[in-house]
Amino acid sequence: MADTKTRVPVADREYFAAFLDLRGKRGMVVGGGPIAANKAETLMRSGARVTVIAPELCALLTELALIGALTHEPKRFQPGDLVGAEIVIAATDDPAVNESVASAARALKIPVNVADNSALSSFIMPSVIDRTPVQIAISTAGASPVLARKLRSLIEAMIPFSYGRLAELAKRFRAVSKERYADAEARRRFWESVVDGPIGDMVLAGREESAIQALQNELSAAPQTTPPAGMVYLVGGGPGRPDLLTLRALRVMQFANVVLYDHLVSPAILDLARREAERIYVGKERNRHALPQQEINALMVKLAQQGKRVVRLKGGDPFVFGRGGEEIETLAAHGVPFEVVPGITAAVGAGAYAGIPLTHRDHAQSCVLVTGHLKDGSIDLDWPALARPRQTVAVYMGVKGLGIVCAKLIEHGLPQTTPCALVEQATLPGQRVLTGSLRSLPALAEGTGMKPPALLIVGDVVLLRDKLAWYTPGALAESDAPATRTSA
Ligand code: SAH
Repeated sequence: MADTKTRVPVADREYFAAFLDLRGKRGMVVGGGPIAANKAETLMRSGARVTVIAPELCALLTELALIGALTHEPKRFQPGDLVGAEIVIAATDDPAVNESVASAARALKIPVNVADNSALSSFIMPSVIDRTPVQIAISTAGASPVLARKLRSLIEAMIPFSYGRLAELAKRFRAVSKERYADAEARRRFWESVVDGPIGDMVLAGREESAIQALQNELSAAPQTTPPAGMVYLVGGGPGRPDLLTLRALRVMQFANVVLYDHLVSPAILDLARREAERIYVGKERNRHALPQQEINALMVKLAQQGKRVVRLKGGDPFVFGRGGEEIETLAAHGVPFEVVPGITAAVGAGAYAGIPLTHRDHAQSCVLVTGHLKDGSIDLDWPALARPRQTVAVYMGVKGLGIVCAKLIEHGLPQTTPCALVEQATLPGQRVLTGSLRSLPALAEGTGMKPPALLIVGDVVLLRDKLAWYTPGALAESDAPATRTSA
């Protein structure tokens, strides 16, 4: 029987994306105005020999014709003019002329573009971010030129001009690197270390001479038989929203070979890691440790020693209740190089997305971060230090021990009416915020089925949420719950 698993690709794209080699080819531009001039220049920059057909030329085209950079045929367009052309662009202000160029080109099977008229065009011209030899082309298939421009400005800002220089450098040393590293995998590793390492940074910083020197040294040194030393990046993935990642986190995720991640890391964030990167779930849920901490530590050391770039991706910030310190102690002990990339910690994310400033001139001069993790049914915290006025307390891992935390704070002197909020899945589409008082919140939380990950915020700042809440995800539990914010 025939294999029915073969999937026939769906024709869901309006255009085929390609880059044409026009060097030495004949390009025809019909029209003599500024738009035609712009098209002629684009063709010329790609090395085409350009002929412009138009009774009259604008100043720029006149000049280019005068110095012989292009050929001018001073006449009205005739279908026969296209013979010999390999690409045609019509940019006149006369729709009839544009139409006759389009139909003549189609008859001759010459690719044709009519300015601002995709219906008449057999190809469209993308919006281009130019870092020659790097070119990034954007098309929305004509759906939204505004969006294309917006994307272009975003990408323009993201990609330094010097990336073009980096590509030039790679091109120049490509042949040598092939001789030096016959093995494709070794060669890829070499170029990765150039692009992402000190040499790449030199080029981006404009120190090209030093970069060339360093690259020459690298390529003439004895071939490396052992794989290059790996590295571990301890990365804070933030509270869950992908757009709250730092740019640094995104960059290291995109050159990772392996990603070790916790349960707190959302799939949307994991998706941003390099496609080829191996993903290993190492867990870390209360009572459900997928891998014991020592094994995680040992695994990181092992992978790094194999020359891998290991991203250890954690929720929030790696140094805030994330055992980041312990993990890199092991790395340091084994001489494995590492970098720590901070992330937005849950308290900061929850404060922002619940409309609760953690400090405020009128309400709280300090903010304390603590963990409400239960150990043998109790919580070991400095209660007198937490039960202070004009202070915000943010309690991580606070769902299970919520009742104890609230009771202890009351016992040590905070009024029963002290406002507090439980923020579940902060920053995510499923965020729920439950507000109450130290006395009422535990029962309310039980009633609404709040569960981890959730963060407890205690202090007068919680009252500001009435005015400052701005994020409205799908369902809000508190609207279903009795309004007991200030009830004792
Ligand atoms: N390193 C992390 C904290 C890990 S401890 C950080 O800096 O945020 C795990 C606890 O963090 C959870 O029990 C919960 O209290 C809190 N937390 C993490 N993500 C959260 C989120 N999106 N919303 C609410 N709390 C969160």
